[in-house]
Amino acid sequence: MRKLFLLLIPAVMLMSGCGERSTKVENPFFVEWDTPFGVPPFDKIDNEDFLPAYEEAIKQHKAEIEAIINIPEEPTFENTIVAYDQAGELMSKVDLVFGGLRSANTNDRLQEIARETTPMLSAHRNEIRMNQDLFGRIKAVYDQRETLGLNLEQMRLVEKIYQDFERGGAALPEEQREELKKLNERMSMVSLQLGENVLKENNGFKLILEDEADLVGLPQNVIDAAAAMAKRDGHEGKWVIDLSKPSWIPFVTFSERRDLREKIHRAFYMRGNNDNENDNKALFAELMQLRQQSARILGYNNYAEYAISINMAETPANVYNFLYQVWEPALKRAKGERDDMQKIINREGSNFKLESWDWWYYAEKVRKEKYDLDEDEIRPYFAIDNVRDGAFYISNRLYGLEFVKRDDIPVYHEEVEAFEVLDYDGTHLAVLYIDPHPRPSKRSGAWCGTYRSGGYKDGERISPVVTIVMNFSRPAGDKPAMLSWDEVETYLHEFGHALHNFFADGQYRRTARSVPRDFVELHSQVMENWAGEPEVLKVYALHYETGEPIPDELIEKLTKSQHFNQGFINTEYVISAIIDMDWHTADHGDEIDVNAFEEATIKRVGLINEIVPRHRTNHFGHIHGTGYAAGYYVYLWAGVLDADAFYAFKETGDLFNQELAAKFREYVHAKNSLYEGMDAYVRFRGKAPSIDGLLKQRGLN
Ligand SMILES: [Zn+2]
Repeated sequence: MRKLFLLLIPAVMLMSGCGERSTKVENPFFVEWDTPFGVPPFDKIDNEDFLPAYEEAIKQHKAEIEAIINIPEEPTFENTIVAYDQAGELMSKVDLVFGGLRSANTNDRLQEIARETTPMLSAHRNEIRMNQDLFGRIKAVYDQRETLGLNLEQMRLVEKIYQDFERGGAALPEEQREELKKLNERMSMVSLQLGENVLKENNGFKLILEDEADLVGLPQNVIDAAAAMAKRDGHEGKWVIDLSKPSWIPFVTFSERRDLREKIHRAFYMRGNNDNENDNKALFAELMQLRQQSARILGYNNYAEYAISINMAETPANVYNFLYQVWEPALKRAKGERDDMQKIINREGSNFKLESWDWWYYAEKVRKEKYDLDEDEIRPYFAIDNVRDGAFYISNRLYGLEFVKRDDIPVYHEEVEAFEVLDYDGTHLAVLYIDPHPRPSKRSGAWCGTYRSGGYKDGERISPVVTIVMNFSRPAGDKPAMLSWDEVETYLHEFGHALHNFFADGQYRRTARSVPRDFVELHSQVMENWAGEPEVLKVYALHYETGEPIPDELIEKLTKSQHFNQGFINTEYVISAIIDMDWHTADHGDEIDVNAFEEATIKRVGLINEIVPRHRTNHFGHIHGTGYAAGYYVYLWAGVLDADAFYAFKETGDLFNQELAAKFREYVHAKNSLYEGMDAYVRFRGKAPSIDGLLKQRGLN
């Protein structure tokens, strides 16, 4: 990483030298971008450009919609459906950049602008979605769709757009439309506020380690990272642990100081629940009321029914059945893991009961004992650039892709790297940014997004500009950043989402990359499988100092330990998925006590005290926005698909089977505009999957 910084910095300086902000007259959103591949000119965009750009984008979008309504001719596929699909180009140009930066590199001003633009945009979307003249034209085309000679892709476009309007309330009587508009506007503000509070809570707590006695048990790399963080935060000479995962997870894994482990873990799971100005309880309760009301207006019993009706799972009951099939074996396994750890505590002569903040510490002891594997032994083989090269290698062997580092592509932060992605035939496919490490301006977690979606304009392909953003361990001292196994899997996961963006290939914006919510994690999760295969590890898991490939004996330990801690991992995940489902299926009265509600769920399904849900309600970002609301289950659902899909490769004896890879690219990644869900999957696989592969993969069978 360090060397790359040196390469990058001069390029960035050069670009800002040419940018000449002081003489700038034009808002960068109003001109063609003359950057390589037309990527956003991050070096020329500043905070104050967004508000006027949004205002103009709304104006243009409105004019485009007006133009569709005012066409004197009868509604047709071209003059209504295609015109609607193509409208809002400036809007998506502005929105993708703003949204991307607000997640990955925000600042106070951007947050302020978001508070201004959120209600503006919500009102704008409402106005379009509920526009009766527009809906009338769309419905006219929809009603005669069978007679229009449409091809499959066009037919799906008509159906998706019609469905969007219907689900947005366009078909409701006026009074209900007005009510829904108000609910939507309020919901978007509440979601925004919930997210802001979590960011403040993430940044608001630091565990300051004052002297050597606070460091006992910590490996040198953890101490170095904590010292570097202290220096950045103005506590030079001390050590700081914060609430980002690369900081607190190693701490609770190794620290012998039980009191400090408790302090940091409690701070983590209490985020948004501290009865301070960032408390999320009242806001979340309000959100549940709003979602319930809006679902009922739309004719559903609850929000989960509404959200899941367009997923593969179809109904909340199917989701519950599925979750419980994993919950029971996972909880049973977790209890066994707890008992193993308690035995260690007793054997060591300590006289206490295992608590949630002890889990990582004793799990690491079990790992050493049972599998003879310790985290420190494997990290040197997973230097961050080697893992990246591993992802490149897998994509090359499967799909023939090449990645070319480009220092002339502007980036929004010095730690971001940019690559040109070339397809198997050498043609330009996409641009990829990689943004690996945590900072206060970034929200927690890992994700993949786009700064420009792929598509077509006037028959010409527009290539996507894709970003993957993570919160991985930083380099410490003069060593490169070395990743944990969990981080390696996350890297490949986000990389899989990026591949989906590279390959998605449809004529229309609405359908080009449209997959059900519970299908989309197939693209990402399947990639994690390749990372752990011995023949692949031998290629990319090279020791950062010697360049030696990871020895067989370590691979064997790694493979054996695959089932390690799976009780815990699946339990802390599934309980969050159940809490999400309970929130969105319950019949909420006027008063909602958030903590009591969560507690009731935990009690009902019998979660053990030693495990805290991976996401507690008050900082559960997935369900604060609409993206994964009544949808946190999708990772596990797609887990069934990915275990089965990878097995398809394995059973041919060729991990990079070209025939299968071509089918996977075509049906799963590329042709989302034609086939979806199980239909797409079966076209790749030839049959539907069963849950057995997943249970076996996780050692839960
Ligand atoms: Zn994902």
